[in-house]
Amino acid sequence: MLNKQIYARSVAMDYATTNDIQEIVEADRKNVWHHLSQHKQFESKVDPRIIVEGKGMRVWDQHGKEHLDGVSGGVWTVNVGYGRVRIADAVRDQLVKMNYFAGSAGSIPGSIFSEMLLDKMPGLSRVYYSNSGSEANEKVYKMVRQISHKHHNGKKFKIIYRERDYHGTTITNLAAGGQQERNAQYGPYTPGFVEIPHCLEYHNQYGEGDYTKQSLDAIEAVILREGANTIGAMVLEPVTAGGGVITPPQGYWEGIQSLCKKYEILLHIDEVVCGLGRTGTWFGYQQYGIKPDFVTMAKGVASGYAAISCTVTTEAIFDMFKDADDHMSYFRDISTFGGCTAGPAAAIENMKIIEEENLLANTTSMGEYLMGKLEELKDKHKCVGQARGKGLFCGLELVSDRISHAPADEKMVQAVVGNCMAQGIIIGATNRSIPGFNNTLCLSPALISTKDDLDQITSAMDKAMTDVFG
Ligand code: PLP
Repeated sequence: MLNKQIYARSVAMDYATTNDIQEIVEADRKNVWHHLSQHKQFESKVDPRIIVEGKGMRVWDQHGKEHLDGVSGGVWTVNVGYGRVRIADAVRDQLVKMNYFAGSAGSIPGSIFSEMLLDKMPGLSRVYYSNSGSEANEKVYKMVRQISHKHHNGKKFKIIYRERDYHGTTITNLAAGGQQERNAQYGPYTPGFVEIPHCLEYHNQYGEGDYTKQSLDAIEAVILREGANTIGAMVLEPVTAGGGVITPPQGYWEGIQSLCKKYEILLHIDEVVCGLGRTGTWFGYQQYGIKPDFVTMAKGVASGYAAISCTVTTEAIFDMFKDADDHMSYFRDISTFGGCTAGPAAAIENMKIIEEENLLANTTSMGEYLMGKLEELKDKHKCVGQARGKGLFCGLELVSDRISHAPADEKMVQAVVGNCMAQGIIIGATNRSIPGFNNTLCLSPALISTKDDLDQITSAMDKAMTDVFG
């Protein structure tokens, strides 16, 4: 692990000949538009944060300050941790040999990674490469629409999505997004997307009764209202991420699967967050025995060492796009950077690391340990309403009233995050998602987490909640 002196030296060596680190900060302040950020703050004393270096679970900022990263690169991405030289070496070797050719041709790493990946996904047999989670999801919408045109006279074109779920940043993914604060001001949206209610039992929207049954009945009512013959697919996160880390109620997925079967609706599982081990199995859907028609993935596929996303489907779907007599029948889609070889080259090493270091088993056992620590925080702090999660993917919902489950003030939730950051611990919180309900602290530490890492993260949260809530 780097210590502060070594870090300070390496920064000095990196920048001495070219730029002073403060020049980097000023150039960033002047030129770079940060994601999801209000820039007004940077006009005064606040400096934009520059992350300079990472190793294992830790990152260092421009001041040389060390942080333990509890959210894998901020957005549940760096599953195998920072500074993996073997991934960098594999990418370098591949780029020197062959960096790019359009995805209408194959590549050696693309072919190898497809075998490794499909081996983990029984029942699925085709991989389509692109370069972001949004794009991978968009491919499914296009496939569903094309299937509708070809096989259902264009009628089965609607796509069902769920309140609180998120599927990406493009206008069409916002149309498929159930988070009003992400969507607001970006309309009009792509038509043909229909919302179903969320499945967060803690905020039961139905009252007395069996929550799972009521949730499924509500979905069926939407299907019947729209007309099953108009609905082509349903897109769902296995565990909702940015909408509040929502694990499904018991029996929910069995019910979803049978509704899809009954009404001939294709099931699209968005594994952009859960994919590649986050919950302790290769994919989140495998926790619940789901048989999807489409699976999309991105973030953890190469842990952020290169951009890659995959849309994976069945041979039955793939076959629908084969018709030698119809020149329009094939999937007429291209993703320029889906042809970059760095993505699959990094993904191969990333997957090998998960296997060789037994990171799925570690995620399961450390996930249980983390959940135990979060339950302890709940026992101690009245502001904690519920601890939820699966594997190393956990949320702590903060409330102002444990009886009514009224959400905690978003500013106080953010103050907890800020307090942890000041202690050198990076955690996340739902933000700009559900109006009034941006109140869940989020944890998604790398799959290499140890008990000691999780102790440090949760004790910082303990102190932060005491400081902020008393
Ligand atoms: N799907 C889910 C569940 C996500 O959480 C995200 C991003 O956070 C996306 C899709 C979009 O992925 P990307 O930002 O790579 O486009």
